[in-house]
Amino acid sequence: MEIYNSLSGNIERFTPIEKNKVVIYVCGLTPYDHAHLGHARTYISFDIIKRYLTKMNYKIIHIQNITDVEDKIIKRAKESGKKPLEIAEYFQKKADAVFDELNILKADFYPKASEHIKEIIKMIEKIIENGYGYVSEDGVYFEVSKFNKYGKLSGQKLEFIKQGARIEINENKKNPEDFALWKIESGDFVFDSPWGKGRPGWHIECSAMSMKYSKNRTLDIHGGGKDLSFPHHENEIAQTEAALGISFVKYWVHTGFLTVNEEKMSKSLGNFITVEDVLKKNSPNALRLFFSLTHYRSPVDYSEDGIDAAGKSIERILRTFEKLKECKPNNKGNGREYFSNEVELFYKYMENDFDTPQALASFFELIKKINSSFEEGIDEEALKYLEKEFSDILWILGIRLDKKIEMTEKTKKAINEIAKKYMDTDNKTIEQVLDKIRELRVNLRKEKNYSKSDEIREKLKKIGIEIEDKN
Ligand code: AMP
Ligand code: ZN
Repeated sequence: MEIYNSLSGNIERFTPIEKNKVVIYVCGLTPYDHAHLGHARTYISFDIIKRYLTKMNYKIIHIQNITDVEDKIIKRAKESGKKPLEIAEYFQKKADAVFDELNILKADFYPKASEHIKEIIKMIEKIIENGYGYVSEDGVYFEVSKFNKYGKLSGQKLEFIKQGARIEINENKKNPEDFALWKIESGDFVFDSPWGKGRPGWHIECSAMSMKYSKNRTLDIHGGGKDLSFPHHENEIAQTEAALGISFVKYWVHTGFLTVNEEKMSKSLGNFITVEDVLKKNSPNALRLFFSLTHYRSPVDYSEDGIDAAGKSIERILRTFEKLKECKPNNKGNGREYFSNEVELFYKYMENDFDTPQALASFFELIKKINSSFEEGIDEEALKYLEKEFSDILWILGIRLDKKIEMTEKTKKAINEIAKKYMDTDNKTIEQVLDKIRELRVNLRKEKNYSKSDEIREKLKKIGIEIEDKN
């Protein structure tokens, strides 16, 4: 398997440190507001990576932090008269619920910064002891020039970093590029430390918590959105390697942004759309498919039409799967070899840095072949093979097979409009409306009113709903 490593800037062979185990750390949320689509983009990308590795028989240890000690949370708490940890817990719970709905597999550990102050302090002490950190009047700093590999991830030259950092003058720092490990602060939301009451810097929390749960071992994969590459991940490398003397991460994986009119979606830019809002109009499957149609490293521009079109594809995918499960074997029909090329291509593309858009193109080809085979027939072995492969692919993509009929708002509206012509559709769910339509058609056929029954069938077919007549 091949994976793009942001550290080298190359596609590399994926060989985890231990043969069958992959330790993944993904930078988690700062829960001070609702999760937005940009978060969904990043966490769905890692979910697919994790699902694929699981299918490839790796045991996954997934660690994802919760940044519950942060200025933005404190600010929000002040505004609302609540405690910072209450704010963090409230928004984290909300985010957990939407990520569940998005069928994102749970991490093994969700360490919170507020519950790991002891580990954070220990790591800062180690950094000072090893000569990379210094205590100053307003806190503890990491001395960037002491760590000669600084810039290895982001490719930033220290001279540039120095220039950028000069804008923010802080007399307590030895050098402008140094960054805070511990900030001495006053107020209610502070923690004790050997250097005075205060709060940890943001970067140190990821170093301390990732190392605690991986048991001080090099991480196979460390992930996050592209925005975190510098300075956050660069600083994580410096801190961890300075404290422990080990190589911090083998493969750095960064996701491209979700953008709105080509600008990054973020709370601070005020252009964010919450996941909750999108899920009011679209299914989780549609959103997952929409994201998977772009490679995880490329940016995706938010598009309602795009999500809607993905919803249509989901309908087709799930309908094909339903038909496949109901299909009776025909031993004169197409055999396994007729379908296997597309299945193999799906995996071939996934092996190439999780190339979901290409893998999906093969999957859609497979679906086309399956649909065109229903008439000619499919033999028993092929049916078994297809059912297994189809459900494996859906699992990797995280597409759920819901009992409820899945369709976009547009399709629902179209069905209701058709139904209204023939019956009363008030106060009925879309499942009930479809059942009623089926019932009506059975009755029409009993009455030998084939033209009306066919007319309804054709209308439904036009919007992608196929109803079969069993007799
Ligand atoms: P935050 O809560 O903003 O620290 O973000 C949590 C995770 O979501 C990080 O890995 C970010 O890189 C990622 N993220 C935030 N905004 C976006 C976006 N617009 N597109 C993709 N990923 C994002
Ligand atoms: Zn982090």
